Amino acid sequence: MRVSIIGAGYVGLVTGACLADNGHEVRCVDIDAARVERINAGEAPIHEEGLPDLLARTIGDRLEATTDLAGAVDWSDLTMLAVGTPLGDDGTIDLRFVTAAAEQVGGALRDRDPDRYHVTVVKSTVVPGTTSRVVTPALETASGRRAGLDFGVGVNPEFLTEGTAVADFMAPDRIVIGGIDDRTVNAIEQLYTAFPDAPLVRSNPSTAELIKYTSNALLATMISFSNEIGNLAAALGDVDVADVTAGVHESIYLSPRLHDGSRVRAPLASFLEAGCGFGGSCLPKDVGALIAHGKHSDTPMRLLQAVLDINAGQPGRLVALTRDGLGGLDSRRVTVLGLAFKPDTDDLRQSPAFPVIDGLRAEGAVVTAHDPVAVPAARARLVDDVAMTDDLETALTDADAVVIVTRWDQYLVVPKIIADRDPQPLIVDGRRMLEPDSVARYTGIGIGADLTKDTP
Ligand code: NAD
Repeated sequence: MRVSIIGAGYVGLVTGACLADNGHEVRCVDIDAARVERINAGEAPIHEEGLPDLLARTIGDRLEATTDLAGAVDWSDLTMLAVGTPLGDDGTIDLRFVTAAAEQVGGALRDRDPDRYHVTVVKSTVVPGTTSRVVTPALETASGRRAGLDFGVGVNPEFLTEGTAVADFMAPDRIVIGGIDDRTVNAIEQLYTAFPDAPLVRSNPSTAELIKYTSNALLATMISFSNEIGNLAAALGDVDVADVTAGVHESIYLSPRLHDGSRVRAPLASFLEAGCGFGGSCLPKDVGALIAHGKHSDTPMRLLQAVLDINAGQPGRLVALTRDGLGGLDSRRVTVLGLAFKPDTDDLRQSPAFPVIDGLRAEGAVVTAHDPVAVPAARARLVDDVAMTDDLETALTDADAVVIVTRWDQYLVVPKIIADRDPQPLIVDGRRMLEPDSVARYTGIGIGADLTKDTP
């Protein structure tokens, strides 16, 4: 199939490279000419495992990047919209990029030979009703043609996770396709013939749109639920939330029994752990957009509002733990480990690292930040007096406290690196990834004061 993809960001580029690797011919379109040039040179503009190899295999063969949207749409059988859908200043979804892209695609369809059927697919995450009420009218007006009669329109939400995006795309847990008619859904299905075993969910566009939001809102809810329990555990004094969640994870719902009697841990359990909160380009904005959409639809989303409120409070808890452990932050040297919102990516969007760093600096701490891959991306975001390095030993030198924000595997060696330090730094574990007994001074999210460790 010939596929054009509008927006060559995380989703658009990974989707394009994977579809090309599966045998489709793909043109990725972006307004950012420098990005297009890098992609055509075989250079991945984002840090994503497996993407450089995919580009090496497909660029110049079945994949190319271009700024020529009309040309790419005209050439293709199917166009995916994979542009950003940020939250606007009023807290509702900002559909500017989607609307503009749909108008441009519609314009490119105006003079198309009517015998060359075309389908536009919304891959961006958009609130329910957007494809019917915004994208389809924009396509119809700009093309002068009728959806369903002259072209197809559908929704195919993306469930990949940054850090494992290529692997997720290549082994989809499900393929959700919402189309205005069967012809549209059948055409979109052709994209995924390489994955005959993936469950296919066929629906109308609004249902597909809500499936995506519900999936993200569920994960965010699990995280904030765990953090609320963690905050209670900390207040109780003699409870560590890690022990609580370990007991909860043994439930048959989270550790089902297989036919041979053995037990497996459901991946969902990893969202049921207390920490310093969720970030990234999706969960905060998608939950926010759904709350606003609920309000707009006379259905207040009270549970989801609490999910965001709890999340907003978690970075402040790390700052408070550091302040309490050091007996004040003024002029104290604090090393923040992790800038990316999650491991295996350099994406900084909505990372809890920033409110943590701001909170520490507001009380006079001298902050050094470390990240194995996100330092170049962070240079533009952080002020000059936050030192940054990708060298862990350098980052830990002379630290009074070490605050873990991102669960990078590299941080498992922190106890070893600081073993001979005198005095010992306080470890403030925002991800509960280190064994409390592995260091002399340990505290973290969800540990009661009686159980924190302080043997300087
Ligand atoms: P992104 O910001 O990384 O990429 C969007 C790209 O679109 C940018 O490169 C931008 O230059 C380009 N663009 C904007 N308008 C354009 C136009 N008119 N023509 C051509 N290019 C244009 O965004 P992303 O993270 O890839 O997210 C895209 C969508 O996918 C969003 O709706 C997001 O919610 C959703 N999504 C993201 C993820 C994720 O992990 N990042 C996962 C699932 C779904």
